Amino acid sequence: MECEKGKFIVAVDEGTTSTRACLYDVSKKKFVLSRSASIAQIYPQPSFVEENANEIYANTLSVLIEMIESAPDLSSVAGIGITNQRETVVAWDRKSGKPLYNAIIWQCRRTSEEMEELSATHGEEIRRKTGLVMDAYFSASKIRWLIRNVPAIAEKLSRGEVCFGTVDSFLIYKLTDGKAFVTDATNASRTMLFDLTTLDYDDGLLNLFGIPRDSLPRVVSCDERVGDFHYRGKAIPVCGVAGDQQAALFGQACVRAGMSKITYGTGLFMLCNTGETPFFSRKGLITTVAAKIGKKVTYAFEGSVFNAGSTIQWLRDHLGFFASSQESEGLAESVPDNGGVYLVPAFTGLGAPYWKGDARGMISGLTRASTKAHITRAALEAMAYSAKDLSDAMTEESGVNIDVIRADGGASANDFLMRFQANVLGVAIDRPQEKESTALGAAFLCGIGLGLIDPSALDEYRLRERLFSPDREEKSVKTYRGFYEGWKAAVDQCVYDGKKS
Ligand code: ADP
Repeated sequence: MECEKGKFIVAVDEGTTSTRACLYDVSKKKFVLSRSASIAQIYPQPSFVEENANEIYANTLSVLIEMIESAPDLSSVAGIGITNQRETVVAWDRKSGKPLYNAIIWQCRRTSEEMEELSATHGEEIRRKTGLVMDAYFSASKIRWLIRNVPAIAEKLSRGEVCFGTVDSFLIYKLTDGKAFVTDATNASRTMLFDLTTLDYDDGLLNLFGIPRDSLPRVVSCDERVGDFHYRGKAIPVCGVAGDQQAALFGQACVRAGMSKITYGTGLFMLCNTGETPFFSRKGLITTVAAKIGKKVTYAFEGSVFNAGSTIQWLRDHLGFFASSQESEGLAESVPDNGGVYLVPAFTGLGAPYWKGDARGMISGLTRASTKAHITRAALEAMAYSAKDLSDAMTEESGVNIDVIRADGGASANDFLMRFQANVLGVAIDRPQEKESTALGAAFLCGIGLGLIDPSALDEYRLRERLFSPDREEKSVKTYRGFYEGWKAAVDQCVYDGKKS
């Protein structure tokens, strides 16, 4: 690949199952090359999920160097931005930088029982301070598990020789030869140790989990130049860090209150920028730092739905409705409406804003006239209704008017879904040219930190592919309102049945 001279940024997206590095051409405003390396997950016990931290670093280094080498020359590489799987914890030796245990992955449930116990006594305090719900998902209980269960870590910790951090922190430590022990505010906000209002670790929570403050990284802004990666005699700035969901929000240029992004992947993730004050939810939405640029902090509401694209996968692989997910679009459009059929994909319970772990999936409203086209349409509609559930909860709890919605993720390629979503929400859905919103966010943060990108002109860098506008005719608005009421009724039934079982 021939790249023209100019300035390039390498965005590293360290994800749960692979690390991707992308070469961003600042003048062309796009990625020109990318490479990824997959990582094996380790399951030592049924609910345990780990990865080899050395492998995470080795993979990152290899794709990073490949991108650096692909730039026209070394001096055209302006910097390295990093985004990462969040909440995952690494413990390493402060002197040698060597990991002291496998990385404990965000999906790991090893601490779920103790977190349930803590929930009754400390759930409310945690929600008010950190914006999080008491769950094994977040970093704090994983760190406590390491201290309690790995003697070498406890012993070294007593001598101040252990560093704990999320993956961003570990990678930066390694890339800067141990000179920078830092994390950014978005990643810190996922630890359950970080107070969203003071923007510092909270001593009460550090005590609760038995974690010494000096074993944790210093919290920096997302656009701070944190150190240098030395490569072939050149110091390349490491600048621009954010957790993956926040990086995607930033990559979609959702930088003011009311701007939101919805990722339609296996699950559905919605983040809404709520501005400079954190709102704390009673409906199980998570409050998180959206970004810290310089001294300015913005917050976001985050909601997730466990099953979205996975329902299409299920229709494809388990029911044999079609051979590829793309076919769902034509099938859904082959019927004028859902024919009264609703599919509630509560395969693994219902997440926000219902939080019914015991609910189970349901297809309702079937008649002899129902076809697989209706069921497929119902599966796609379910994604749109789930997003409306989240969007309504976010608006209700923050008062923020959600006026811009930007879509990404595999299923956002489905035009029927995008159109339907716009109509259900009554807000236009904006789909970008660049599908890698997460990596783009890291590239933007790096570019801003290095003065190559003007933060007030991000919309010039995040380019639109297509805008799906809602039909604002009164009749249509009423029709879609009726569709959504049908969904709410179906969810009620499904939650009731779940409770009964
Ligand atoms: P993840 O990163 O969460 O694994 P992706 O963002 O790659 O997932 O999206 C893949 C999901 O999107 C799959 O569940 C797939 O069924 C669904 N999907 C992909 N293309 C389409 C499409 N055109 N219409 C509907 N669903 C789709």
